[in-house]
Amino acid sequence: MNKKKVICPGSFDPVTLGHLDIITRASKMFDCVYVAALVNSSKNPSFSIEERMELMREAVRELDNVQVVSFEGLLAEYCRKNNIDAIVKGLRAVSDFEYEFQMAIANKKLYPQLETIFLTADSDSMYLSSSMVREIGRYGGDISNFVPACVHDRIVARLRETNGK
Ligand code: ADP
Repeated sequence: MNKKKVICPGSFDPVTLGHLDIITRASKMFDCVYVAALVNSSKNPSFSIEERMELMREAVRELDNVQVVSFEGLLAEYCRKNNIDAIVKGLRAVSDFEYEFQMAIANKKLYPQLETIFLTADSDSMYLSSSMVREIGRYGGDISNFVPACVHDRIVARLRETNGK
C-alpha cells in the first residue's frame, strides 16, 4: 500500500503549541509526518538548529508516526528525494495567506506532484508565533500557555540567558 507521507516545515524557533496542534492533527490524517526544521532560516534564529530539533523531538515524543528532521535548500527538492506527497502548513490569519499561496504555487512548479495542504489554526493558538514567545520569554513573562509543558523550562532558561539581546 502506498503510505501517505507529508512534511510540516518551519523554523520552530522555538516550538509553540500552535506548531504542535498542526503536527498532531497531521499525524492523525497521514501515515508519516516529517517535521522539518529549516537550517538556514533567513530569520536569523535565536535557538540553534540542534536546540530547535531537540525541543521539537521532546514535544512530539508521543506521536509515533512523526519524525523530526532538518533541511537545507529547496523544500520541493527535499520532498522529491524523500517521496513526500504533500506539505502541511497552518494558516493563522489572512495575513499568512498571500505568502503561503505564492510558496505553494512555486513548490508545485518545482515538483508538480507536490500538494500543499493548509489546516486552519486552532482558535486557541491562532495568535501565537515563535517571535511572540521569544519576546515574552526574554523579559521574564509567563509563556506557559504558549509552549508545550514538557519543554517549557528549557525554553524559559534559554531565553533568559539571552535577555534583551
Ligand atoms: P513562526 O511563524 O511562529 O515563526 P514557523 O515559521 O516555524 O513559525 O512556522 C512553521 C509552520 O507552522 C507554518 O506553516 C506556520 O503557518 C505554522 N504555524 C506557526 N504558528 C502557528 C499557530 N499558532 N497556529 C497554526 N499554525 C502555526
